[in-house]
Amino acid sequence: MTTKAQRAVITALADTSRFVSAQEIHARLRGNGDSTGLTSVYRALQSLAESGDVDVLRTDAGEAAYRRCETDQHHHHLVCRDCGRVIEVAGRGVERWALQTASEHGFRDISHTVEVFGSCPDCPG
Ligand SMILES: [Zn+2]
Ligand SMILES: [Zn+2]
Ligand SMILES: [Zn+2]
Repeated sequence: MTTKAQRAVITALADTSRFVSAQEIHARLRGNGDSTGLTSVYRALQSLAESGDVDVLRTDAGEAAYRRCETDQHHHHLVCRDCGRVIEVAGRGVERWALQTASEHGFRDISHTVEVFGSCPDCPG
């Protein structure tokens, strides 16, 4: 079940492959004549993130950013901090390290988030 705000957010995210902030999504909706409020956008993003329909990450600036990813599988992101370009990557070494580290400390039911930020080859250093 999706709400009207969730559908609006999904449509707005479908237009971009970058990670975008709630404010950016809100501005985009407004530009399309959609009157969904910022609070509704936040709430929609939160539930979409919880259900795994959108990926969320913390930018270098500590801001939450959202993206509709191509895969439902667990994955990681390479994010260009200059142009916002995103590459979805698998991290087998990271998975192994996370499991091993957790089990060494007796942790169960673990999860992790790993995003790699940098400048992509198309962006001047
Ligand atoms: Zn993703
Ligand atoms: Zn770039
Ligand atoms: Zn992982």
